[in-house]
Amino acid sequence: MQLYNTLSAKERAALIEEAGQERLTISFYKYAHIGNPAIFRNHLFIHWNELDVLGRIYVAHEGINAQLSVPAENFRQFKEFLDSITFLENVRLNIAIEQDNMSFLKLKVKIRQKILADGLNDKTFDVTNKGVHVNAEKFNELIEDPDTVLVDMRNHYESEIGHFKNAITPDVDTFRDSLDIIERDLHNHKEDKKLVMYCTGGIRCEKASAYYKHKGFKQVYQLEGGIIEYARQVEQQKLENKFVGKNFVFDHRRGERISDHIISQCHQCGEPCDDHVNCANEACHLLFIQCKKCAEKMNNCCSDHCMEIHALPYEEQKALRKGKVVSNKIFKKGRSEVLKFKR
Ligand SMILES: [Zn+2]
Ligand SMILES: [Zn+2]
Repeated sequence: MQLYNTLSAKERAALIEEAGQERLTISFYKYAHIGNPAIFRNHLFIHWNELDVLGRIYVAHEGINAQLSVPAENFRQFKEFLDSITFLENVRLNIAIEQDNMSFLKLKVKIRQKILADGLNDKTFDVTNKGVHVNAEKFNELIEDPDTVLVDMRNHYESEIGHFKNAITPDVDTFRDSLDIIERDLHNHKEDKKLVMYCTGGIRCEKASAYYKHKGFKQVYQLEGGIIEYARQVEQQKLENKFVGKNFVFDHRRGERISDHIISQCHQCGEPCDDHVNCANEACHLLFIQCKKCAEKMNNCCSDHCMEIHALPYEEQKALRKGKVVSNKIFKKGRSEVLKFKR
């Protein structure tokens, strides 16, 4: 019984290329009570591996969060399998607008403490006591209401390249920081204001909405399916698009364009730009915005220092890295003093 990948990413890319079949990039999440995440994990791996599904999936006692690439011709079987799992029956699937056959090259199903790293003690409140879900049409109406406070529940590097007009975009590195800031700022409006939240796909708002209800907020709403689903509905139903810029996504594409506006700038020269990259120096890997000109000039690096290291032979780089913690991979995402134009 195969429970893990046997092909390398490179071999997989070659296979996909060769097969020439269309693939769908799909994401979904569900908060649910999963008694034995390990058994559930293996169940998913065995079935999805058979259907040539690729992606990154987190399973925890609190539920599942999945980002997938599914062969279009296997979609029906994939859907039937999901529907065979009680709490995933008719789960809402986000299907990416842009077609990308190489969005994932391996199937990784991992067991985590939580599907959303939130720094919260969930035992103190009921995660399934969520706010009101609204679709794109209702959301557009709601955010014009003068009694509405619209909050972006994502991190600074995400809202920097795109957000809803008039949204509060907390300058935070973590979800937990956002929760505290919003609660403090709206402390006196728990009953009279409508708290409307959005995030990429809905997973963060869903927990946030349960948290705020627990904290005494009376009118809590979330954008169903997040920005991804909003963009789809706006397109399909010809609604007014109130999102400006790009939607940051967590696969190698880094962003999905929702409107033509470029609202951010290259962190190195200040020219309008909304393309995120990671510093090419593997010991740094800083996430930042870099235009094509600067990428060429800096050899895809964030600083002169990184450029020097990146130019060394690979073995020497490895020797330098030995024993050091690669902090940018975990902390300080998108923040560094070398970035002159990071606001
Ligand atoms: Zn630049
Ligand atoms: Zn760097």
